[in-house]
Amino acid sequence: MDRFEEWLEKRLPARLVGAYYWLKHRLTGASCFVCGMPFLLHTPAQEWRCNNTPLDGLEITEQGMALLVVDEAERITGDAA
Ligand SMILES: [Zn+2]
Repeated sequence: MDRFEEWLEKRLPARLVGAYYWLKHRLTGASCFVCGMPFLLHTPAQEWRCNNTPLDGLEITEQGMALLVVDEAERITGDAA
């Protein structure tokens, strides 16, 4: 993140910051994590394929699973109360 982006995130509403990043990643040729092609060149079908491809090596760690269990338990007890 550069200084402009820090400035942006402190002063603008989240919706505008999101629009900035959307434009940046669409127009500056940021590459897709899945196929390596720039996002701009994705056809709708290819975008759907990439969005629905699981990324290799991503899995829930034991720490993350513990957090999920705690969150689920809190949600259940919250619903009961
Ligand atoms: Zn892709």
